[in-house]
Amino acid sequence: MTPMESCKRVNLCALGGGGEVGANCFELSFGGHQILLDCGTHPKKEGECSLPAFDLLNRAPEAYIITHGHVDHCGAVPYLARMYPGVHGYATPPTARIMDRMLHNSVSVMEMIAKERGIAEYPLFEHCDVGYALRFLESFNYREPFYLNMADPVEVQFIEAGHVLGAASVLIRLPDHTIFYTGDICKRKQALIGGYKPLDKDTQVDTLIIESTQGAANDETYRTYREEIAHLGEAVGQVLLGGGSALIPSFALGRTQEMVNILADLQEQGIIPTVPIYTAGMGRAIYELYKLFSDHLMPHATLRPLDQFERLGDVWNPAVVEKLLRRPCIIVATSGMMIENTPSALIAQQMVQQTQHGIFFVGYLDGDTLGHKLLHSPAGTPLQFQLNRPFVAKTLENIRQFRFSAHATRSELAAVVERINPKNVVYIHGDPEALGWMEQNTGNGRQTFVPTIGQTITLEA
Ligand SMILES: [Zn+2]
Ligand SMILES: [Zn+2]
Repeated sequence: MTPMESCKRVNLCALGGGGEVGANCFELSFGGHQILLDCGTHPKKEGECSLPAFDLLNRAPEAYIITHGHVDHCGAVPYLARMYPGVHGYATPPTARIMDRMLHNSVSVMEMIAKERGIAEYPLFEHCDVGYALRFLESFNYREPFYLNMADPVEVQFIEAGHVLGAASVLIRLPDHTIFYTGDICKRKQALIGGYKPLDKDTQVDTLIIESTQGAANDETYRTYREEIAHLGEAVGQVLLGGGSALIPSFALGRTQEMVNILADLQEQGIIPTVPIYTAGMGRAIYELYKLFSDHLMPHATLRPLDQFERLGDVWNPAVVEKLLRRPCIIVATSGMMIENTPSALIAQQMVQQTQHGIFFVGYLDGDTLGHKLLHSPAGTPLQFQLNRPFVAKTLENIRQFRFSAHATRSELAAVVERINPKNVVYIHGDPEALGWMEQNTGNGRQTFVPTIGQTITLEA
C-alpha cells in the first residue's frame, strides 16, 4: 500500500444543506477518494425531492460519516445503500441505535403517506433496506481515533457536540489537511445533554465546516435556559389552572426527552399542576435509548422513568383528541415545526378552535412551516392542518415561542471559529440571512465559502 498523496487541495460539494437547513449531505473529495459527511432528508419536502442531490455523485462514495440521528442528517442512508450497496458508514454508538429507530419509523411514515395521499414514490426505501444499510454501519466512541474502511487509511475522530444524545462533530486528518465538520452543535447545558467539548488545544485545523442555524438570531436579548424554563412554567401553569391543555410541539429526538423531564421537574417543584404529561411513540422509543446510554447524559441529570409519562393515543382519530382535551393535560408531540399531518398538527387543529388552551413552540421554526404561520397569523386566519382537508379558522390566541434551541448561538459560533482559527471556513446548515451574518462577522481574514447545492468548492490547506 502506498501512502496517500498529499491532500493540500480538497474539494467539497454540497448535495444538500448548502444555503439552507435541508437534506444535509456533503461530498468530500481528496486524492482520488470520495466520502460523504451526513446523508439526510429534507424535513419539509416529500418524495424524491427530499433526498440530497445524489445525481451529482459520479461514482460510489467510499464511506459516509453521520453526525447524529436527526433525519436531516441520516434520513437518506438506506436510499444511498440501495444505490451503492456495501458502502461503510460511521457513527457514535448512540447515534447508530437512534438511526435504527428513526429510519424504520421513516419507512412506516412513508408507507402511511403513500396510502393516504397516493405518493407513488413512497416509500423511498423499505424496512429491509434499513436493515441492510445498518449492517455496514460501524460505531466508535467520542475521541477514539479510527480509520475509514478505504484503500488509503483516513483517520477520523468523533468529538462531543452537545445538541442531542450521541451527537458528534467530526475531525478528519488527511495528509497535509485537517478538516473539522461541526454537525449540529450546542454549547449550553440542557436538562439532560451537556454542551459541546472543545478540540484538544494542539489540534491544527485547516478547514472548518460549521453549522449556522442561529446566525440570524440576535442572542444579546436571550434569556438564560433557567429563565426560559421559568417563563414556560408560568405559561403552562396559567393554561392548566384555566382549565385548558398545553401542547408543546417537539422533535422526537432530543427536545421530547428534555421537555418531559423539564415539565416533570416543574410539577415536582409545585410550579405547575400535576396533570398527565403525554408523549407519543417515537419520542418514547428514543427515551429508552436515553436510558440505555444514560452514561452519555450530564452527571446529575435526572432521567425520570418513562412510565411516569402517559402514552398518547391514536391522534388520527378526532374522537381521541377530543377526549384528550376534555381535561387539562400537557402534550409533547411531533413534529416540532408542526408540519401538516403530524400529531402536533392534528392536536392543534382541534385546540385552535377553543380559547382556553396554549400552544408553546420550543424549537427552531422554519419560515414556511405551519408552526410559523400559526405563531405569526392573527386570530381568525384560516390554516390547513391536514393536507386535502378543509382549512380551520384559528380562534386560540395563546400561541407563543420559547427559546430552548439545541443549537449554538451566533456569538458561540463566532467563538468556535476564533478558537479553532482555521484557514478556510465553510458555512452550511442555515437560511441565507443566517449564513450571511456568519460570513460577514466571523470570516475576518480567512477564506470563506457559502456553497450552494451542486457547487463544488476547492479548499487549500
Ligand atoms: Zn440536529
Ligand atoms: Zn440539523
